[in-house]
Amino acid sequence: MSRVACLIHDASSAAGQGGFGAVWGSKRLKAISAIGSGSIRVNNPQALMQARLWQKKHYAFKLDNLKRKFMSVDFQSPPVPGTLYRSGKPRTGKRPQACVGCHSACRGRYEDGLGNEATCFTTLFYIYGRTLDIQRQASDLINRYGLNAAEMFWGELYLRDLHRSGNLGPGREIDSPLNFDKYGTIDFAEQLVKSIAYRNDGLGNDHQFGDDLAEGFVRAAAKWGRLEGPRGDFKTGRLLFPYWGLPMHKEPRSQLDWAYGTILGDRDINEHGFDQLRSNPTYNKKWGIPLYGSAEEVVRIYTDKMVPFQGDRLMLDFSSANMYSEHIAKLVSWHRYYTRFWKQSAQFCDWRWPDFLNLYGPGKVGSTGIAEPKFLNAVTGKNFTFLDGIELGKKIWNLDHAIWTLQGKHRDMVHFADFLYTQPSFSFRGMPEYMPGRENGKWRYIETLGRSFNRDKFEAFKTRFYKLQGWETNSGYPTASTLKSMGLGYVAKELEQNGKLGKG
Ligand code: SF4
Repeated sequence: MSRVACLIHDASSAAGQGGFGAVWGSKRLKAISAIGSGSIRVNNPQALMQARLWQKKHYAFKLDNLKRKFMSVDFQSPPVPGTLYRSGKPRTGKRPQACVGCHSACRGRYEDGLGNEATCFTTLFYIYGRTLDIQRQASDLINRYGLNAAEMFWGELYLRDLHRSGNLGPGREIDSPLNFDKYGTIDFAEQLVKSIAYRNDGLGNDHQFGDDLAEGFVRAAAKWGRLEGPRGDFKTGRLLFPYWGLPMHKEPRSQLDWAYGTILGDRDINEHGFDQLRSNPTYNKKWGIPLYGSAEEVVRIYTDKMVPFQGDRLMLDFSSANMYSEHIAKLVSWHRYYTRFWKQSAQFCDWRWPDFLNLYGPGKVGSTGIAEPKFLNAVTGKNFTFLDGIELGKKIWNLDHAIWTLQGKHRDMVHFADFLYTQPSFSFRGMPEYMPGRENGKWRYIETLGRSFNRDKFEAFKTRFYKLQGWETNSGYPTASTLKSMGLGYVAKELEQNGKLGKG
């Protein structure tokens, strides 16, 4: 019954954001278990096997010929399961664990049973736990109690900060029962997790504090009177929840695909298709990891594959001069369309796809564009092209947008939390943020830390984005002509009946 409750499956996978756990809770549904003997019929099993062997032979990492040893989320280097705990401390006694059919196996299971299958945000929660094993126990706790890991990671740091500044504690401005004398121990993490899960003091006694937090950290901060005013936590950036009440993920002022995709959608996109553009040059500057290529080369390889906008190199120019342009609007659109179909519907793994740049591929060119339809057609028997998938993704994106419009979404609501406009982006744990961009007419990797969004320019960007989608620019509402062009005339009718159809 908490808004930050997830649906957990396997050991550490979750439908994390969106409050699905709360929906189940409200229906008194605790779990679903399925047992069956059927299977999914594959149209052409031989073609599917051939597609897999082709992908593995030409594009997958080879243990006897590793081109990258550092952990990455693409095809060309082996994952190092569980190493995100405090930026990587591998353990012995582990074995990889994979989704069915994946050669990569990005998760780990351990002899000691701690933190099994945990990756990403789950492994970051309680980062100041006194030992790594305490942190691993803490990540298991949030999985067992079904709490959202990203929310808990940033939220726990927020509470710690409020306690250190004297605002939070027993009888203080925010009356909290948390025992900070035990900070760093598993007892503290357990009290925090239980206070949210049971809406009490985390020790079995009634307390408003847990009830407040169970509504999510932004609602709790609002209730505590901390959001308003010139020194409010959204103004100062003390509460790092930049959009829709959801926690920070990638630095929005750097990774524009992530920031705009999220604010123009409905949740943290959690789609990592362009991450390598930041992580590879950033890790190169920070730790000397070899670059995949020059900024110009990388941008060429990526943008050549981005149909129907292929060849527009400026889609990947992350410089401040280009951050509100129609080229960036195309980047955001392409990412929305690709993921709506190829990831969210056809279920290609978010860690691995799209395979833009691949050090094993010919000329470093990855398999995206060829591979996706190869797999899909083998399974379904259809004759689908890559562009067919992008266009279907565009249709799904428009359908989603129409549903949000019916639910009340309007252009005026589409803005970031204040701190993204008022505060420069900051370095988390000393990390720079390098991205490809053009400076003085030349491509290079540029440092994007230290900048903030400009409100007026972001408004102009929204207009450009809505125009590109064919939506009404004043309201952001879908228009009849755009919907009809995608076979969504019935959606236009529904919007019209509800007074939400855009003009044009
Ligand atoms: S999440 Fe992706 S990379 Fe990891 S095992 Fe599953 S399919 Fe492979």
